[in-house]
Amino acid sequence: MLPNNSPWLKQLNRTRAVVSINANLKVDVVIVGGGIAGVVSAFFILRDTDMTVSLIEADKIAHGATGHNAGQITSYFERPLSELVKEFGLSLAIEGQRSIEYGWTLLDQIIVETGTKAPVHRFTGYAGLSTLEQVLLHLKDNSYRIEGGLNPESMVIADQWEYLKDIPKGFKDLYTIAPQKDLLELLETNNADYIAALSSQKGCMNSALFSEELLRFVITTYKDRFSFYEGSPVRTVRLKKNDATLDVLSFHVEAKKIVLCTNGFENFSIINEVGTEIDTKFHHSIVGRIGYMSGYIEPLNNPPTAINYFLKTHNKSGDPTGEDYFYLTRRPHEHEGKDSYNLVCAGGPEKVLPNGATYSRGHYYSEDVKDLIEKSLQHNYGKYSKEQPAFAFSWHGLMGYTPNGIRRIGPEPCNPVLLYNLGCNGVGILPSIYGGKRISQFIRGERMQLSVFDPHDQG
Ligand SMILES: Cc1cc2nc3c(=O)[nH]c(=O)nc-3n(C[C@H](O)[C@H](O)[C@H](O)COP(=O)(O)OP(=O)(O)OC[C@H]3O[C@@H](n4cnc5c(N)ncnc54)[C@H](O)[C@@H]3O)c2cc1C
Repeated sequence: MLPNNSPWLKQLNRTRAVVSINANLKVDVVIVGGGIAGVVSAFFILRDTDMTVSLIEADKIAHGATGHNAGQITSYFERPLSELVKEFGLSLAIEGQRSIEYGWTLLDQIIVETGTKAPVHRFTGYAGLSTLEQVLLHLKDNSYRIEGGLNPESMVIADQWEYLKDIPKGFKDLYTIAPQKDLLELLETNNADYIAALSSQKGCMNSALFSEELLRFVITTYKDRFSFYEGSPVRTVRLKKNDATLDVLSFHVEAKKIVLCTNGFENFSIINEVGTEIDTKFHHSIVGRIGYMSGYIEPLNNPPTAINYFLKTHNKSGDPTGEDYFYLTRRPHEHEGKDSYNLVCAGGPEKVLPNGATYSRGHYYSEDVKDLIEKSLQHNYGKYSKEQPAFAFSWHGLMGYTPNGIRRIGPEPCNPVLLYNLGCNGVGILPSIYGGKRISQFIRGERMQLSVFDPHDQG
């Protein structure tokens, strides 16, 4: 058994003492949860309004999913675009996709405006496909992207692939053909199962370091209007007509708006004193999945990349078999005080957290999961060799999946004093950033268009 050892938290080199809430508080906006969603929401609200804001975190800033992810910046939903089109119609689905892609622009804006130094690496990343079903699904998504006015992702298909003839003629402009060895090269694999490669803009970052740096900017820039507390779990949220109170440790916080950025896993109750009950439905509608990752250090001999591998098998059971999907990132990483290293991280195995079960970041990481990741690296990543150094890091984190796989961003229909920017859903860095901006627009009172992110009316 291995300890949960995240490379992102190690890079924080944190020395700040935890300061818990120590008095009653009255602010305009209280944000619950200090992951990337909470910190970015605080930034945009403070930047775009003159309100007072307090950020309240149960543990430490960025120690949740934000400190235990793969750190891949990518702009897809956890569901195919074609499914979103079916559920919401073309225009809303495309607008949702465009919003997530706008997260890139917002990320750039934040970096430029705040001087955040946490490295962000940008590059063209790849996804390897191995079945006709996967190829057709991505081609269909691409056709919707074009119909909706978005750029398609480029797809290369192996010229000798036996099912090339089964691709409908209508898709012929959506891909190019090349010798399989060319696309295997893009995918950095020797595994001949891969018969197509998608490419798109991707990136890598340490979202925990980014959140810490952004928090530092917020603390210094808005010191008259901003406060934050760690080690301060919120126990109860009591919603009234125009404001709310929170019980935190033995203190009360009063606010006109509450923004929940708790990922989905919260140990508090919500009492709506002026409308439909929110609490239980909210808690039960989010499913937890534990994601497992490992990473090793190597010399800085390859550029940064992010590659997703869609395997031939498709296993969505709760066991961490890792048989259906595997992904890796490679990025420069400071190690032993020097910048001359890469960190290669790989993940894929997941486990569903049974309803009612508790997840602890302190749980150990089993050797079996680590072996699975090692096997996946051997089968898929051509640059991996048996002589590779042992994993320097093995870690896990919790993802909250909303029922439709889309982040919830916006006011609670049963009581708009409460807003959400939550639902980790596996891919959450850009959605959290976009969510922070959208939340600030709601709080400013802007008239917002309908979106796929709107919380459902549970009433
Ligand atoms: C293994 C793994 C791999 C991932 N890989 C990627 C990836 O490659 N790319 C990507 O885009 N996304 C990825 N994600 C998802 C991404 O990390 C998250 O979507 C993102 O970090 C979510 O941030 P958040 O702020 O919403 O949640 P979190 O970072 O989890 O923050 C929520 C915070 O709320 C606090 N909180 C909860 N309850 C309370 C309470 N009652 N009172 C006070 N505070 C409370 C928690 O302590 C926590 O700090 C991955 C996630 C995991 C777990």
